[in-house]
Amino acid sequence: MAESPYPMLSVDDALATVLAQANPLPPATIPARQALGYILAADIRAREPLPPFPASVKDGYAVVAADGPGTYPLIGEVTAGRLADFVVTPGTVAYVTTGAPMPPGADAVVMVEQTEKFWARNGPAQIEIRARVRAGDDVRGVGVDMAPGELVLGAGSRLGPAEIGLLATAGVTDAPVYPGPLVAVLSTGDELVEPGRPLGPGQIRDSNRAMLIAAIKAVGGEVMDLGISGDSQASLEASVQRGLRADVLLTSGGVSMGDLDLIKPLLEHAGQVHFGRVRMKPGKPITFATIDNDGHRCLVFGLPGNPVSSLVTFYLFAVPAIRKLAGHPDPNLRRVQARLAHALPLDPARPEYHRATLGWDFAQNCFVAQSTGSQSSSRLLSMRTANALLELPERAGELAAGSLVTALLIGSLVD
Ligand code: AMP
Ligand code: MG
Repeated sequence: MAESPYPMLSVDDALATVLAQANPLPPATIPARQALGYILAADIRAREPLPPFPASVKDGYAVVAADGPGTYPLIGEVTAGRLADFVVTPGTVAYVTTGAPMPPGADAVVMVEQTEKFWARNGPAQIEIRARVRAGDDVRGVGVDMAPGELVLGAGSRLGPAEIGLLATAGVTDAPVYPGPLVAVLSTGDELVEPGRPLGPGQIRDSNRAMLIAAIKAVGGEVMDLGISGDSQASLEASVQRGLRADVLLTSGGVSMGDLDLIKPLLEHAGQVHFGRVRMKPGKPITFATIDNDGHRCLVFGLPGNPVSSLVTFYLFAVPAIRKLAGHPDPNLRRVQARLAHALPLDPARPEYHRATLGWDFAQNCFVAQSTGSQSSSRLLSMRTANALLELPERAGELAAGSLVTALLIGSLVD
């Protein structure tokens, strides 16, 4: 029986090998408004205090707290964005709106709900103050939300909506970030046609490329589409050569044991193959190489051709690599525990990455994993709605319903 010459690595060893070759890309500066999803490359500190002036927290009346409840003349008003041109002396009050600078002399705000306004025939309106407040009540002091010099965002932060808002608050318009890696994608196989083409004899549609391009975008990579290459040495070499400009090159197909599985020897020739077999199901023939070209290093993943194997190995190995290149301080997929909704058969020889949909079960107070059904590696429907890969141990028999398993998150738990 023909045996692959490549030693069989464990998933953990293979992942460690990949991450050892992936280093964060040199940082760049981009407009903060376009920085959603990027990883910050430098600390951002506040230059000014927030608020920059003592500000009212409520719509109401600025008072001298020591005056206490009573009825006082209204001597002026300050709305947000304006400054008082008067002083609140003991025994007087001023109208203020939320976010308005406190008028000098006042040291607290009584919210409008705790007051009553009486119009006077001549002279100022009178305000009845019903609540007793202490100095500082409903006043945001200078710098309480953000002190000058305070760390607003640390290097390594992922920029989500709140973080983009913090950049705006801190007056940062250009954000130092790690760029998204450029990821080239090549489908290989004489049988493949573009999705828009009618199928000829023996042909199938190229699903991997569209799928991997979407997966790259979802993880923050920039895409270089290398199209489809037939299974000829010359065509594959030319396509791989074009992809070496990228930070990562993904090929799919051509890494198994068939006569036209030409990717492994091609990568051996062009660079260094770090592994060519991993003990996992699906995805055993996943191959990883590095190719150095003009001082630029390209990480090459030879993904298996079967669509499920392609996507599962992309998540397990390429996603952490892309996240590390993109400056993520903890690039690994997140793990949670989940209870099986039903029994699952095990593979005695290889750990299985079983596609499942996780949902929170309030009755059991844990995640419950629902299998996506038949796990054949050609059946892409087994990835539909999957937001997790269950890490099933290599063992004879089955795992009973209700068993606890670890699950790698590959999709959102929010949707
Ligand atoms: P290979 O690894 O090239 O032997 O391919 C394994 C299986 O995956 C074969 O049935 C191929 O037809 C199929 N396959 C390879 N590449 C693709 C692709 N891009 N889209 C869909 N199926 C593919
Ligand atoms: Mg093939």
